[in-house]
Order: sequence, then C-alpha cells, then structure tokens
Amino acid sequence: MNLSTRKVVPTPAHLVELERLGDEIAKLSAHLDAATARLLDLIREFDARGGWGNGFASCAAWLTWRIGLDPGAARERVRVARALGSLPRLAQALAHGELSYSKVRALTRVATPETEERLLEVGRAGTAEHVERIVRGWRRVDRIVEARESTRRHRSRTLHVCQDEDGMVVIRGRLEPEAGAVLMKALEAGREALDQRRRDVPAETPPDGLPRTGLIIADDPPTLGQQQADALALIVETALHHGIDPGAPGERYQVVVHVDAQVLADADAPGQSVLEAGTRVSAETSQRLACDASRVVMRHDPAGRVTDVGARTRTIPPALRRALQHRDRGCRFPGCRLPFGQGHHIRHWANGGPTTLSNLAMLCRRHHRAVHEEGYQVERQPDGELRFRRPDGQLLSQVPPPATVPTDPVETLRAQNYARGLHIDAQTSRPAWFGECLDLGYAIDVLHPLVASLRDAPAT
Ligand SMILES: [Zn+2]
Ligand SMILES: [Zn+2]
Repeated sequence: MNLSTRKVVPTPAHLVELERLGDEIAKLSAHLDAATARLLDLIREFDARGGWGNGFASCAAWLTWRIGLDPGAARERVRVARALGSLPRLAQALAHGELSYSKVRALTRVATPETEERLLEVGRAGTAEHVERIVRGWRRVDRIVEARESTRRHRSRTLHVCQDEDGMVVIRGRLEPEAGAVLMKALEAGREALDQRRRDVPAETPPDGLPRTGLIIADDPPTLGQQQADALALIVETALHHGIDPGAPGERYQVVVHVDAQVLADADAPGQSVLEAGTRVSAETSQRLACDASRVVMRHDPAGRVTDVGARTRTIPPALRRALQHRDRGCRFPGCRLPFGQGHHIRHWANGGPTTLSNLAMLCRRHHRAVHEEGYQVERQPDGELRFRRPDGQLLSQVPPPATVPTDPVETLRAQNYARGLHIDAQTSRPAWFGECLDLGYAIDVLHPLVASLRDAPAT
C-alpha cells in the first residue's frame, strides 16, 4: 500500500482526533515556553552573580560546556535572559506560556522599557514570522537613527588646549567613546604607576631630589584631580619618549619581568619578581609570564653585578610552538574554545620541566592565569589526555554528565507549572491573527517611536 498517493478522506472521528493532537502540541509547547522563562531567570541570576567565573570566559561559554548548547545559541540565551531583566511584561508573557520563546527572542532585540508594551501587543497579535519581520523593520529604523546619532557624535569630537592667565594649561574636550575608553584606561594605568612610585619612595626622600622647603606640605595626599593631571603628564611623556607609533598589539602589551631563578622554580622561595617599570608582581604571575616568553639569562655575582648575559631565546622555539598549535588547536581548558593561546609548561621549565610537546598544553590568557594564579591544576594522564582540577581538587570534566531527568519529564513539567499557578491550555499561545496581509511599512510607522523624528529631520 502506497501511503503517499492514497487519498485519505478524513472521517469526523479522524478530525476530532487530529484536533486533539494539535491541541496537545500547543499545550505542551506553552508549558515548555513557561519552563524556558524559568530557565532564563536562573541563567540571569547565575550570570549576574558570576557563577561562571570559576574558569570560564563568559556565562555563554559555561552554558556551552555545562548544558551542551552551541556557542551561538548559548550567547542568545544569555542575551535574552539579560534583556528580560528590564522587560517585565515580555518576561511575564513568556512565563505564562502566552508568547513563544521565538517571539520573545525576536522582540528583545528591539524592545526597551518604553516600547515593551507596544511590542508585546505585536507578539500577541502576530505569528512568529510577522514578529520577525516587524523586528527587522524596526531595527532598520533604529540603525538609521543610530547612524545619524554616531555621525553627529563623530563631528562633535573636539579638544581645546589653551593657556590660562597664570600660565596653567587648560584642557577641555569631547572624545568619541572608543577614544575616551582608551584615555580612561591610560589615565588609570598612569595613576597606578605613580601611586606605586609614591609607595616605593620612603617618606623622608624628597621627590625627584627636589630640596624641601617649608612651603611645600608634602604629606597631603593628592586629590583625584591632581592624580589625573599627573597621570596625563606621565602618559604624554611616555608617548613622546617611546615614539607615537602604538606598534603591533603583541609589542604593546609585552611585559619584561626580572625574576630571581629560585622564585621561578619555587614560588615560596625568597627572591623577587619585578616588572621592568619597577612594579612588583607575585611569584605565580612571574612564573606565568615566563612560561611562554623570550628569555635572557643574566648571572650576577654576590654583589649584584651582572657577570654574564646569555643570548635571547624563546622558551618555546617557533617550530615547537607551531606543532603545539597544530596539535591543541587552541585553549585546552574544559569548555574553552579560543583558537589561540600561550604555551603552558605543565611542569615549569624553571623546575626542570622539559620543553616538549608532552609537557606543553595550549591555554588562552584567561586560563593560563587560572592555572598559575587561581589554583587550577592540570596534569597529563599516561594516555596523553589532560586532566583539569578546580582549586578544591574536584575534577573538571571536558563534557559534564547530563542532569538526571525524571521518568515522566512532561508530567513533572506540567505539575510544576500548575504548582506555580499557571493555567495553560491549547489556546494560551494562539495569535490573534485572522489571516490579514501584514502591511510592514504601516506597522513600523505606527509602532516605532522615532519614525516621526526621521520624517521631520532632513537626511544628513
Ligand atoms: Zn604556564
Ligand atoms: Zn581558555
């Protein structure tokens, strides 16, 4: 009997049966959406409280590892979970099974607390496809508005430098957000460096060998404004001293650390680790920095005079590093997929660990720090596999075992939803749409709050 060509004339009993099946699908889907809302609540709380910080780069990376979502879906869950935190109406509609996750996902891309109510109506009235199209149209308007806004901001960038009557130089300006972020970061670094210098200089020593006069009240700690001013001067001097070219990112962040041989071999040994700028770093940090670095060995006599300077060598020669990259293809920490990283000596070379493939593992910067400074451990098993442990000694598996599911998960889900006071039936998530054609232009015109402003302002 060929089922595909056989003409089925549905009997009334058949129709009733199919209707019941359809209702069952709609009902269970609404239950799943309600459960998804609960899941997103948990993700939002876990994310906000930094639950993923025990070795993962982000909440999404943790979800990928722990519950097996693909990275794109994991990022999307986190995005939607965060967005729903400030969109209570959409969150509630999902929690009551009235809007599907697909609709809520689309709506959270554009919704703000001000437009949420209107978009909720769109979600209730339309099918998922309508919602998707309206959101796309909405984003087009947002993008036009944004582009105008960013052009306006870019044009308004300015920096005035002029001299005041008393000879002080006055600075006033507006920077674009990226440039401003770099400036603030540099100021912070400058303040830290100056602060470190101040702490290193004993109180009796006048700064920079200046003679002390009775007029200088040297003990007053500088105000934040004064610190910022000093930091800016330091940044400017440094920039002119080192040439204005920022160089390649690798060079920009290169760190030179002077470290006693005993400290490299044993973090508890007396000795010192000092960054070239004079900042002290922990023994663990210097071990990490030395793990994969250029190395110049200098020998000192007991008086501290340098007696011998060796040639600069890479702790991991380029050919071996290529082999390592080829074998590990990125960070090996469980759940991390970063495709690049640093070579970590499982047994540190300063402790006599060999620089061989079997003693090396590739780790991203974040996870290299985790094993050196945060107590995570890694060892290579006799079969060649790596084993990672948390600081408390617990094994960190590459793929965690799935959670145990009750024998009848659907019944459990329903019972839980009813216990939460949810009344879900086959009509709960049905759109109010009756088959009319969607007039997208009109819909965006009446829905989007900024359309009017686009009509009024001439295009720039
Ligand atoms: Zn290392
Ligand atoms: Zn990593």
